[in-house]
Amino acid sequence: MPGGQNRFLSESLETRIRQFDISQKTLLIPVMAPFTGRLITASFRAFGVDAVLMETYKGLSLGKEFTSGKECFPCQVTLGDILHHLKMEKERLGASFTPERYVYFLPEADGPCRFGMYNKMHRLVLDQFEEYKEISITYLSSQNSYAATGILPNKQARRFRRLAYAATIIADVLDRIVWRVRPYERRAGMMDAFMEKALAAMASLVEASGADLNFTKLYALLEDVASNARSIIDDRKPRRPRIGIVGEIYLRSHPESNQDIIRLLEQFGGEVVTASIGEWINFISYDRARKLRRKWRTTLKNGDYGFLGDVSRQWIAQEIEKRYQAWRQEQIYHIALRRLDIQPDHSIASIERKLDNDRHFSFDVGTEAGLSIGGAIAYASEDCDGIINVFPFTCMPAAISSAVLKPLMNRMKIPYLDAPYDGTTQPNREAALRTFLYQTKQHLEQRRNGKAAK
Ligand code: SF4
Repeated sequence: MPGGQNRFLSESLETRIRQFDISQKTLLIPVMAPFTGRLITASFRAFGVDAVLMETYKGLSLGKEFTSGKECFPCQVTLGDILHHLKMEKERLGASFTPERYVYFLPEADGPCRFGMYNKMHRLVLDQFEEYKEISITYLSSQNSYAATGILPNKQARRFRRLAYAATIIADVLDRIVWRVRPYERRAGMMDAFMEKALAAMASLVEASGADLNFTKLYALLEDVASNARSIIDDRKPRRPRIGIVGEIYLRSHPESNQDIIRLLEQFGGEVVTASIGEWINFISYDRARKLRRKWRTTLKNGDYGFLGDVSRQWIAQEIEKRYQAWRQEQIYHIALRRLDIQPDHSIASIERKLDNDRHFSFDVGTEAGLSIGGAIAYASEDCDGIINVFPFTCMPAAISSAVLKPLMNRMKIPYLDAPYDGTTQPNREAALRTFLYQTKQHLEQRRNGKAAK
């Protein structure tokens, strides 16, 4: 590659993927989990940011056109989303399309995985279009627990983080309300229609009153939603086999990419619960606190007292954040649980305990594999009748989870299925899901008769 082009690339990666004040920009947000996407967009809007949730999956062919096929599938989907959105904006605005106005928002995570590279890859593709070169990419990073200090004025950043966390947990709870009620609804379509209105009301409320961090109104609405959703359940319908979904966060949360696996499983006779988005945010805080605790011990052991105060402050701040999140999450779930028996979320400490002192896996390895393995064991011990690991084809942490979970679930006599996706339609997928559902029904029968292994 000629030196000039090399220089341009490194300059572009340094200057056009950055954290800066986005208050005056249009922030383009890709969808991962639909409910979370709606409420996070509303949270940005509550602080005056012109945030827009982009349509998803419409630009998959564009995403595939500008990738080689070796990238992770979520990278192709999100790339397609941004290219499609910009194409539509260009067509809509014509000569008044101003690229400087837009900022593309793509959070990242560090660790032994490719997610941290998505925004660099997307930068390289945007730079291939003369008209997209001035569109900046911004991010929140797991390195500082997704703090917003780099993208919002200091005063707002902390408040935004508080609101965004609560909005994420509320979105998780709304998902769980749907999964609890929809399989037993009195009339087909009732729950989806009800939730569409409830979600719109929640998003409006977050946008209108979220910035003052007085959550009373949000909680009142959430309780109302849970209570009304309860009335949609037809109590004559018997409880179905319960299926726990774990796996890669994007694929398990993005219905278009996972070919609507939750709805399909419900159609075949199951009740599903998927690992939450809050779980990942909590894991990041938990992991950071663990690492800081270790750093503190090493600093003390080495007698590096000049440094000790600094490490202590960081560790205490992270512990406070971790505990705040646990308290807030419990509070929000408690409100819904007063009205409806949704599946509570697993604490990260409880997931780590399920790893049995690192016998099954260790959080030290990093990635989502520890969460998937510990989460699957937790579901299995909470009367789930089957576990599905949903992931992008070739996903490294999911392959690790699969290698550990398959024999483990076999020993526990819990039906288990790997469900990899890459955007193609697999002819035997439906047969595999139906067979899996049949096994879960047998497991439920055995459980009711007291024969299932624990
Ligand atoms: S978790 Fe899987 S899909 Fe996501 S970046 Fe890592 S390897 Fe790719």
